[in-house]
Parts: sequence; C-alpha cells; structure tokens
Amino acid sequence: MVSDAGEVKDIATAVNEVFDQLTELDSLWSESGPSGDIFKLNSNAGGSAYKVDKRTYSLLNRGIILQELTDGAFNQLLGPVTDLWGFHSGNPHLPNQWEIAQSLPLVKGNLIFTDNDCIISEKGMKIDIGGIGKGYSVDLAVENLISRGMKSGIIEAGGDLRTFGNPPDSDNWRIGIRHPRNLEEFYGVLEIGEGSVATSGDYQQFFESNGKRYHHIIDPKTGYPAKSCVSATVLTKTCLDADAVATAVFVMGPDKGIEWLDRFDEFEGLIIYYENNGELTHNISRGLNFDPETSIITLNSLYNSGE
Ligand code: ADP
Ligand code: MG
Repeated sequence: MVSDAGEVKDIATAVNEVFDQLTELDSLWSESGPSGDIFKLNSNAGGSAYKVDKRTYSLLNRGIILQELTDGAFNQLLGPVTDLWGFHSGNPHLPNQWEIAQSLPLVKGNLIFTDNDCIISEKGMKIDIGGIGKGYSVDLAVENLISRGMKSGIIEAGGDLRTFGNPPDSDNWRIGIRHPRNLEEFYGVLEIGEGSVATSGDYQQFFESNGKRYHHIIDPKTGYPAKSCVSATVLTKTCLDADAVATAVFVMGPDKGIEWLDRFDEFEGLIIYYENNGELTHNISRGLNFDPETSIITLNSLYNSGE
C-alpha cells in the first residue's frame, strides 16, 4: 500500500513494476526453477563455484551473519532436513528418525564466498531460504518504491512487512499481531514508525499426527519442530533481519529468545507461548510496552531503538 506517492504520477505502473520485481526474485530464489541461483547452487553442492546475482549475494551473506549471531538457531542450510518434512513440496509428513539423524550433519557445513562466486562446501548440503527470502524481497520492494520518489507506504508479504514514511494523519503505523489460536483476532496491535515486523508461528504451516502438532520451524540442533513457542514477532529496521530473527527466537524459546533480543538495541519482539498451566501468555523485550487494557504495544522511550 502506498499512502504518499510523492512526485510519482503513475502509481499503478510503479506498483506493477514492483510486482514484476517480486516475480523475478521468486524465480531467482526458487528451489526448483532451473534458471535460478538457489537451484544452481544446490545442484552444484560440493562442486565448482557459481557466480550469483548481487541480490542473492547480499541475501546469503546476511544469512551467514545472522546464523552466527543467533548461534545457529537460524540456519539457511537446513534444506536436507526441511526436505524430509515436506512442507515446501506440499506433502508434509513425519519423517523417519534415522533419515533426520543422517541429514543433521549436513546442515553444519559452510557456504563459501569469494566475491560473488559462491560454493556449498559439501555434496548433499542444501540451501533453504524459506526463513529470509520473503523478508529480503520486501526490503527490495520498499527500496524500489523509495528510489522512485514515493514518500510513505507499507509492503507486506505473507505476514512480514516493512513501513516507510508516516501514515496519513499520524506518526505511527498500527500493525496487528495475529492471535495464534483465534486467527481472526489480534493478540496485540503494535504502533511503530519506520521499521519492519515479521512473525513466525506454529499455525502458519503444520500438520497433526497422533494428536500432536508438527509445524515448519525446525530446531537445527534436533531436526524437529522447535517446541516451546507458539509465535514470535520481531521488530527491527530491515525485513530480512526481522524475518530471520523471528524464526531464530522462535527456535530459542520464550526465555532465551527474549534474552537474545534484549542483548541488542536494534531488535525488539514479542513471544507467545503456553504456560505450564495451559494458558497462553507472552514475554516481551524490554524496549516494548504492552498495555493489558488495550493490547496496544508501543516502543518504550527508555529503550527507543531508533526505528
Ligand atoms: P513463514 O515463511 O511462514 O513466515 P518463517 O519465516 O518462520 O515462516 O520461515 C519458515 C521457513 O524457514 C520454513 O518453511 C523453512 O523453509 C525455513 N526454516 C525452518 N526452520 C528454520 C531455521 N531454524 N532456520 C532457518 N530457516 C528455517
Ligand atoms: Mg522468518
């Protein structure tokens, strides 16, 4: 949504071009499209280096940094394990535990870059950018609109979003955080200026087997869905970072996840989880304030993180 197009006269054309860009990124980063970078890198695992598009380079390089920063809770090389769960192929199912055990060592390998040449260190390793690709696409779309002179708006892709400028008649955007069990309702409403918000939840993609919920956010240490959170929402400057860190703190859990967010001025977040007594509750980072009367979440001025 564009709320102030600045000097741009033909908004429809500009927006259509942004959609074209998103379609191009989809095929560049598709796991199965043979002309795309991710497909080529995965097919070349353990082989020769391949020169990637500079956007792929920025994406994967930031992924390497986020992987280190989150101590591996975010892992963009989870492909061998996520393939076994089948969420991307549309046929999610419980994998055999031996298969998981066999594929786990593969997620600990490396992506190696020399300039834009990239190589996956070992055969069998596989990139899965499911945890960051969407966020970075939003960043590129926002940059595109700003470079055309647009002044304010909001771009959202599947629950991850980035705002730029101010909304009409207000300093703050109001972002609803979905209630993870009553999907028609909001758990809270976040009021922010410019920034990005991403949510990872156990309700987005899951299946049930023997009464247990298996979802698509995988703990790279175990190869199984991360257990202790229901949803994790992260606020930071770029949508790429918000997307990856939401996935990472979901994996870390409600206590360690918030501890991690509180180590950085530039990340804030809310983690929803079940208490032992079965009640849904949340932990919140110190830079945010949740008003229990109104469920409005605002940036705490003490820790204003510069968004
Ligand atoms: P969504 O894409 O539904 O918004 P996420 O941003 O949490 O949700 O991304 C989940 C996707 O990221 C999974 O489908 C998978 O492709 C990938 N993924 C799962 N677990 C991890 C992880 N620990 N680190 C990085 N990527 C992950
Ligand atoms: Mg994510």
